[in-house]
Amino acid sequence: MRALNTTAESSALHAEIVGMLYSNNRRSLMAAIVVMIALLLVQWHLIDHIILTVWSSIFLVAYGIRAYLTVQYEKDLQRELHSRQWLQWFRASTCFCGLAWGLGGILLFPEADTAHQAFLIFALVGVSGAGIIIYSVDTLSTNLFSGGIVLFMIPRFLIHGSSVSLALAVLFMVYVFYVTVAGRSLATSLRENISLRIASNLDNKKVHQLAYYDFLTGLPNRRLLTDRLNQAFARCVRHQHYGAVLCLDLNNFKGLNDSKGHQAGDELLQQVAFRLQQCLRKKDTIARMGGDEFIAVLDELSTDKTEAITAAQATAEKMMAVFSQPFELQNSKYRTAPSIGICLFLGDLLKEDEVLRRADIAMYQAKKSDNLNSIQMYDEAVHPAVEMRATLENELAFALQGKQLLLYYQVQVNELQQPTGAEVLLRWQHPTLGMIPPDQFIPIAEETGEIVSIGQWVLAQACQQLKHWSQSVHTAQLKLSVNVSAIQFSQPDFVQMVKETVLASGCDASCLRLELTESLIVKNIDEVIEKINALKVLGITFSLDDFGIGQSSLSVLKRLPLDELKIDRSFIKDIVHNNYDSFIVQTIINMGKNLSHSVIAEGVEMQQQMVMLQKMGCHAFQGYLFSRPLPLHEFEASLQSAMRGGAAPSATGQRKVLRSRLG
Ligand code: C2E
Ligand code: CA
Ligand code: CA
Repeated sequence: MRALNTTAESSALHAEIVGMLYSNNRRSLMAAIVVMIALLLVQWHLIDHIILTVWSSIFLVAYGIRAYLTVQYEKDLQRELHSRQWLQWFRASTCFCGLAWGLGGILLFPEADTAHQAFLIFALVGVSGAGIIIYSVDTLSTNLFSGGIVLFMIPRFLIHGSSVSLALAVLFMVYVFYVTVAGRSLATSLRENISLRIASNLDNKKVHQLAYYDFLTGLPNRRLLTDRLNQAFARCVRHQHYGAVLCLDLNNFKGLNDSKGHQAGDELLQQVAFRLQQCLRKKDTIARMGGDEFIAVLDELSTDKTEAITAAQATAEKMMAVFSQPFELQNSKYRTAPSIGICLFLGDLLKEDEVLRRADIAMYQAKKSDNLNSIQMYDEAVHPAVEMRATLENELAFALQGKQLLLYYQVQVNELQQPTGAEVLLRWQHPTLGMIPPDQFIPIAEETGEIVSIGQWVLAQACQQLKHWSQSVHTAQLKLSVNVSAIQFSQPDFVQMVKETVLASGCDASCLRLELTESLIVKNIDEVIEKINALKVLGITFSLDDFGIGQSSLSVLKRLPLDELKIDRSFIKDIVHNNYDSFIVQTIINMGKNLSHSVIAEGVEMQQQMVMLQKMGCHAFQGYLFSRPLPLHEFEASLQSAMRGGAAPSATGQRKVLRSRLG
């Protein structure tokens, strides 16, 4: 027999067997009464009527109890749960019925009438045979029943001592034995069939559970949610009702996982799931989409849009309210709150994916808003920008692996407009959105931490390029400026990482310049100085980018072991017409001289700007006047033509310069 794997399977088998036993009771009761009446009628003139009355009373009590138990069993709505008690009662009443029949064998035994003895045996053989077969699923019930009959009857036939009664008793025993054996094998195959069916039912349930429910929280999973959402859509179309999708995400769940471990994270999710379930209507669905994201589908809110919005917001507030009580995690209290985004739907105006996406965007906006723990409705007017940001944030993680990041090179020139090097500038070549400028994705990369690996990649590329250039006399002097984000610089292993990257490439470290911004200097000035000095030992030089717009004090700047100040392009823009800007630029140039730092101006677009800067004492430039940032092969090509012409590399820039020279 197939072994039952779980307690669930064996209790289901037990309950089913008890059900089968009780289900036969009504028919066997009828049959027993028919046999009893037949016996009474046949023996009426042979047996004392008092004895007949006593026996039929005992008989009726036994079968009356059985009928009562059957009714009670059927009434018990939790009979499967109580199946063990019901089996005990069944066995007791079966034993009683067997004894009643056995007693009939003694009391109704006609001493002198062999034909009636045969009739009695015939009736009891039928009764015990039927009983053994009917009760065969429970061996003990079978034994109690046939045992009760045999116990009284056989001695009675043996006591009588005639050869006929003896023969009848032996035949009876053989018959009971035979039927019992047959009943056993019947019972075995019956139980086997039942347990197979139960097991396959349970397996199906298990498969269903795994396929459609989240194993951690027991909530519907994404697959079931899609199904429910489809149904909700169909109902909303039929009844022209608005429904809503609510997207809920826990704030700082990653922080909890990192600080208290995944076990605590799992516990929190389970408790959150339980609480969220309590605040929804029966017809609503709450599903876990994975991670700490939950989706609720609110079906048929109202035919009126404003009412539907109010109802959806009310549910969102209820969901928010379940977070007011702290959660119990590993014996300590933990407080958290979610961000919730809402998107309404009406019929099939929007596809399910779109509704989910919009709810997600609204949630994202809720998370980004200053007011933490907020609830946001999807609003078409506000969302394109947020949507774009969300898309970039999601896809940035794959940009590096997907080889979608590129480096552009923007030339830097000296006063003779000869190329001295270039600034390395990142570009993201997105497969569908096209070229994305760094201003759009670097802040996101800084927020997600992705900037660390991106920055490392940029540095490695730049070093390899320097190494490559070092092999030609024409390019060996070129320097490369690499932008370093404050987040990247503040990594504890930043110095180590730069050292390893430079050494691995084999480039000349003195050709590498790192551009830092003032934002980095504001805090931990000593640590910054230490890191800069550690890298300067290798020969790496440092430039302070976007200089002039920051807040750092002169005393701080003096302490920094920098090599270059890079005047922010916003001052260069109006330098020709704005006296204030030109005054600032002059001050920066003077300051650089005083601190023995070289000064470079970026964003130089016009000849006049360059001329003015030169007059002020600035001798290094970068800007569209010379060249826009270019992909490597174009940059290298323009370098070659610049070398031939002896000026800045860009074809357009070069033409302009030549024109101005001629002019
Ligand atoms: P940034 O470091 O100030 O880079 C100079 C920016 O000015 C570049 O913009 C460049 O294309 C632009 N530019 C150069 N000449 C001119 C000009 O004559 N006129 C005008 N209007 N603009 C000019 P880009 O390439 O869009 O880079 C923007 C910012 O993105 C950079 O500003 C830098 O902060 C950041 N960035 C770029 N690449 C990297 C990188 O590899 N790592 C990090 N951390 N940041 C980067
Ligand atoms: Ca820069
Ligand atoms: Ca800059």
